[in-house]
Amino acid sequence: MPNRKVTYRLYPNAEQEVRLQETLGLHQRLYNTALEERIRVYKETGKGLSFADQCKVLTQWRKMVPALAGLNAQSEQVTLKRLHLAFQHFFRRMKNGETPGFPRFKNIHRYPGWGYKTHGDGWKLHPSRGTCSDQPSAHGKIYLQGVGLMPLRGKPRDAGEPVTCEILHKAGKWYASVTLEMETVQRERGTGMAAFDWGLTDFLTIATPQGIETVANPRHLRNQLAELKRLGQEVSRKIRMAQKLSGKQKGFPVSGNLRRAIQNLSRLHAKIARQRKDFLHQTSASLVEQFGAICTEALSTKNMVHKGGAHKKGLNREIHAAAPAAFLKMTKTKAEEAGSWYEEAPTREIKPTQRCHACWKLPDEKKTLSNREHQCPHCGVICGRDENAALVLLRWLEMRLAGSSGSGREPSEMWSGGSFAAMKHETHAIAV
Ligand SMILES: [Zn+2]
Repeated sequence: MPNRKVTYRLYPNAEQEVRLQETLGLHQRLYNTALEERIRVYKETGKGLSFADQCKVLTQWRKMVPALAGLNAQSEQVTLKRLHLAFQHFFRRMKNGETPGFPRFKNIHRYPGWGYKTHGDGWKLHPSRGTCSDQPSAHGKIYLQGVGLMPLRGKPRDAGEPVTCEILHKAGKWYASVTLEMETVQRERGTGMAAFDWGLTDFLTIATPQGIETVANPRHLRNQLAELKRLGQEVSRKIRMAQKLSGKQKGFPVSGNLRRAIQNLSRLHAKIARQRKDFLHQTSASLVEQFGAICTEALSTKNMVHKGGAHKKGLNREIHAAAPAAFLKMTKTKAEEAGSWYEEAPTREIKPTQRCHACWKLPDEKKTLSNREHQCPHCGVICGRDENAALVLLRWLEMRLAGSSGSGREPSEMWSGGSFAAMKHETHAIAV
């Protein structure tokens, strides 16, 4: 059964806020103490502690420390599990010959939160509307052991049973990220065919048999990035001032003024991230709604920077802002939910930015990055660079669907119905 995450904003009252802070502090200390314990035992015995070892020790600690005994036991295990995962990550990277940082002690200001394993054990969701099976319920309340019942706001896209929960503390606000187990994810499947290229000028250039469409980057993003830059500079200026006044590089007193500036910065950051995610969700949903066969270029870090056109810091940030990796993942997931055909073309083999969509030939001289136009030296066709790339991908998709690319699965096995049955060769009728 598929799982989905939904994030709710929590609205604690003053008293609950204090208890949330206390809980956060206890989990942070538990994390750091468990890390200390791992280091101590390793130094003394030369052997590491496992997750199971630490869970046993936790039982002892709960007997000795009343504050720990007051917390939900499963949520404490989740914190130990997070430490365990940090170590696993560390060892995996060591094994791969990388130089990872050793798991670090965590500062309370940067401690992200804690989690629960089972719905009904330490936490319970009370949606405002009845849990009608086909209607996801919006908003409502959440009960947290030791904190109480708090209002929350948020709405899952589809109805599902809550399974696990993570409490997050971000930029002074509290959130609950709840994993829902979906009974069925229902998504309409489109019938058209499309291939898209993504870039900075337009977020998407979509080629369909009917023509070219574009999806622009959200207009507010550019202004917000400028505002983000301004706020960032304000914070650095205030930090420099505080350093100068106190004569200390570190540990200088943080004024209310500086604290507010930092908060404004992180709030805008969170807002941009949220809006960007919304935009990516909406755009990918609309693609899957319209098209039953979708193709794009496989993603690599190299072609990401390449597409940016320059190794500039500002531009690179915009590439991250356009978030192609997240977008492709969303599109792929939604296409799977709808039962659509989703393909990523092998970039190196196809070379969509170089190849000509009309004659399928590669130019003798490589196109430069700044050249925004496709002008074919062989057949003379002229069009926009992104438009050409999308058309190359569309043609490749057509070949895949017709099964003439000679590799991989038979499209006729994968695709049944839809408007491009007519496109399939007659010889592809199901063999008996
Ligand atoms: Zn050509």
